Amino acid sequence: MPAYKFNSLEDFMNASGYIIGGEWYPRVTSIVGIKAKPALLYYYAQAENYSKALEMTSKSATEGTQVHNAIEAILKGEEPDVDPIVAPAVNAFRDFSQFHELKPLEGGIEKRIWSPAQRFAGTIDILTEINGVFGILDVKTSSGIWRDYGLQTSAYMGALQEDEPWEDLERKDVRARWILRVDQQQVCLRCGAKRRTKGGNEKIRDNHNGCSHEWSEMRGEWELKELPDFQNDYEAFLAAKRLWEWENEHWLKQIGYR
Ligand SMILES: [Zn+2]
Repeated sequence: MPAYKFNSLEDFMNASGYIIGGEWYPRVTSIVGIKAKPALLYYYAQAENYSKALEMTSKSATEGTQVHNAIEAILKGEEPDVDPIVAPAVNAFRDFSQFHELKPLEGGIEKRIWSPAQRFAGTIDILTEINGVFGILDVKTSSGIWRDYGLQTSAYMGALQEDEPWEDLERKDVRARWILRVDQQQVCLRCGAKRRTKGGNEKIRDNHNGCSHEWSEMRGEWELKELPDFQNDYEAFLAAKRLWEWENEHWLKQIGYR
């Protein structure tokens, strides 16, 4: 095992942060990565071997990116070419937007934000009004809405609440953090079991032993959740950041970070 996860300072800086106005800022997703994710161990344990597990993760990340790109294009009024593999999830988004009135902020898609006071930076999926309330919308292609998402989105909200002149961003009070989960799965027409395929990995839920399963076409589904308790999440994020700084001291010292 090497002493450090990164081969060089440059690797570390590229993988973990952004340079904004000549200054390096750690990335929100890198910071929240310091928190253990026990569910991931379970996921890895189901794989044939470690490299297969990594392959699944990377394939599933690619699918997630395809879904994000398609949704962002739709919000910009474009008609994206959608890979059939992720089409049901993208259609789930179209369905969602029939039920909720979205008004994305001009320049508010894939919006880079940063906190000079707390020193971190990130990219918000969508800054938008939903049914008349302005907030942060983060899109996930997971099988559930996990509590961890609160850490990431609280950082975005914390940064937007600072007195920073948000250049092209028309300043509005951010009132909400939402997770929109879009996913796709097949349902057994005989027993109601559900089959989800992610990164080539198949998972069956509510399985009924003995059923020879007759799978439906792939169906999209969506779920919108507003995350409560910003303060509590933001304090936890800043604590995670402190731990992340401790872990990466070796590199941060070389940058002259604080
Ligand atoms: Zn069945």
